[in-house]
Amino acid sequence: MSYQKVQNFKCRCPLIRINVFGIHESHQIPNIPCDRSSNDVFLNQHLQWYHNFDSGSARKLVRAIFNNTSPHQNLFSINDPIVKRNIAVEGYKCKCPLTHDGAFGLSDEHDITNVPCGRADKEVLCFQHLQYHHNLSSRAAKKIVLAILSYTPTVTQLFHNDDFVTQSKCAVRKLKAKCPLIATHMYGKFIDLLIVNVKIPFMVFLTQNLTKQNYFLSQMYFLIKNR
Ligand SMILES: [Zn+2]
Ligand SMILES: [Zn+2]
Repeated sequence: MSYQKVQNFKCRCPLIRINVFGIHESHQIPNIPCDRSSNDVFLNQHLQWYHNFDSGSARKLVRAIFNNTSPHQNLFSINDPIVKRNIAVEGYKCKCPLTHDGAFGLSDEHDITNVPCGRADKEVLCFQHLQYHHNLSSRAAKKIVLAILSYTPTVTQLFHNDDFVTQSKCAVRKLKAKCPLIATHMYGKFIDLLIVNVKIPFMVFLTQNLTKQNYFLSQMYFLIKNR
């Protein structure tokens, strides 16, 4: 079967369940059972793009289907690596997994946006979509894409309620890390301006309660109060 024939070969995706052609769960192939098996696809491309096959394994399966090989035949052994290694998370396309509250442990507590996702019927560049449509941080988005790639079900709790997963919270957290009361060498003048107008009991309150959560609120309060 020539390269061109492999490229142009169309049929329905055979990956309607696990354990066909020797494909086992431990191969960690995403999107099985395939939800695109109702129409013919360019199988070679589909296997690489949707099921993350490496090119050699995709060709092997295309040839087997072309030759009417039985799905009971073990084309791949359990130790064969089938999926692509070093996948670029940024380039991975799939349908958005955030179709319901609680997917991967994401809840109301996390302040993510647009869940359930209104665009989940089409494939998207998942890493980017999770950030721009659902306000997830790049770190959280990457964690989800890697989970999808490794065939992790959405009921798996990747995140806990007190995890920071959104862009805004992460940005604020970065900002908090630069608290001027710690880094006085950086913000010396700013601190002087603030402290000049602070009442002593309020300073005591502040220093005793200077947690990540209330620091910025406190700062806003006395900036406005002493305007
Ligand atoms: Zn498929
Ligand atoms: Zn979405």
